[in-house]
Amino acid sequence: MARLPLYDTHAHLDVEDFDADRKELLQKIGENMAGIIDPGCDLLSSQKALDLAHAYPFVYAAVGLHPEELSHCSLKDLEQLDAWCADPKVVAIGEIGLDYYNDENSPHALQQEFLQAQLELARKHQLPVILHDRDSHEDLLAILLSQPEDLAGVLHCFSGSWEMAEKLLERGWYFGFGGTSTFKNDRGVRSILAKMPEDRILFETDSPYMAPVPYRGKRNNPLYTAIVAERAAALRGTTPEKIMECSSNNAKMLFSKLK
Ligand SMILES: [Zn+2]
Repeated sequence: MARLPLYDTHAHLDVEDFDADRKELLQKIGENMAGIIDPGCDLLSSQKALDLAHAYPFVYAAVGLHPEELSHCSLKDLEQLDAWCADPKVVAIGEIGLDYYNDENSPHALQQEFLQAQLELARKHQLPVILHDRDSHEDLLAILLSQPEDLAGVLHCFSGSWEMAEKLLERGWYFGFGGTSTFKNDRGVRSILAKMPEDRILFETDSPYMAPVPYRGKRNNPLYTAIVAERAAALRGTTPEKIMECSSNNAKMLFSKLK
């Protein structure tokens, strides 16, 4: 199989689900894909993502504090994120955002404080952001629209409305599509993917979570990005080759440190 012009722009390859076969999997990824971005969720996983990025030329890291991890994070952690930003393999700040789904998560005001601080850090380093948004569309949209125009990034695993997408398209945002776009009950994701301008589409897996059909419920891995892209091509009436090429160019446009 030839190497596909395809990036998985969101894969948590650092998590323990991959401990048993990470090396073998990474070898296959290197043979079959252009690359992957591993977003950290706290200092430890950001360090692990960066270690992988240093070990494999086609792996890139994002560093950030995820809204579900804030109970063991502090704003002082941003000093370490700041120091990492100059690393050539750190392509973004992420995974950051808001998550109101689970009542056990940190209070909304605290989540917003961490998000604002990390958006500021991204702007300081002129890095894009990788955003997580779960049941928090209204607050996230308000925060993003209040940012200066030089902030860029992707709404990972986008689950908002078309109205929300339109507002963010105007501001130059990108949209990540993964396993949910293949689910039988897709909650409207496919209709958004069908209308999305082709220069704003990124493909991702969110490995090890959210495996696409027919692997739903199993461990996800970056090789399944091709399944997501093939399904998207069929939906949009184009060829897998064209949409992969296009999304790969989009990835390089947004994450300018990607090679
Ligand atoms: Zn994620």
